[in-house]
Amino acid sequence: METPKQATWLVRKIFHARHWFDDLGDPNKFSKGENFNIKHAYTSFRPQLPKVQWRALVLLKDVIPRKQFILWMAVQNMLATTDRLVTWIIQVDPLCKLCSIGDIETHKHLFYECTYSRSIWHFLLNWIGIRKQIGEWADEVRWMAKRVNNKNPKWAILGFVFIAVVYHVKEMQEASNNIEEGTLRGQEK
Ligand SMILES: [Zn+2]
Repeated sequence: METPKQATWLVRKIFHARHWFDDLGDPNKFSKGENFNIKHAYTSFRPQLPKVQWRALVLLKDVIPRKQFILWMAVQNMLATTDRLVTWIIQVDPLCKLCSIGDIETHKHLFYECTYSRSIWHFLLNWIGIRKQIGEWADEVRWMAKRVNNKNPKWAILGFVFIAVVYHVKEMQEASNNIEEGTLRGQEK
């Protein structure tokens, strides 16, 4: 059955989520006797974190789960930026409201072509005493992930700052687009 075009955002999401059940395969494999083990099903269903470059950054200790989740979404370019919302047939002005450049709000723009987010990241790097050119998102993640670890306090602090900037920019992006907190933080690619 096709997803109804006039359906609300929530109904469309439910329709899109149907493939999860297809991907789940035979539900009996998560059962013991007559008992369905929801924890087992959920664990096997969750995306497993691959051992990629940004792993150290996402696994930085003592980061609150909400911020960790936003970072995890961001490193995979899965945040709900307005260019994506438009493709989900959600009516929203696609231009970035955080700066006056007049660019479409893409992930690439938000991190860090946007003068707003770029100036915050630049200011905080300077404040910590690091002088560097700010590159594209992938460059910044790579640069951070190479340095951050849980053993060196200086780099751990920089990791916290990096995560805080990402979280702040995402919060401001949601607020500027009147997106209710947490409802549209991302979806599967
Ligand atoms: Zn901008």
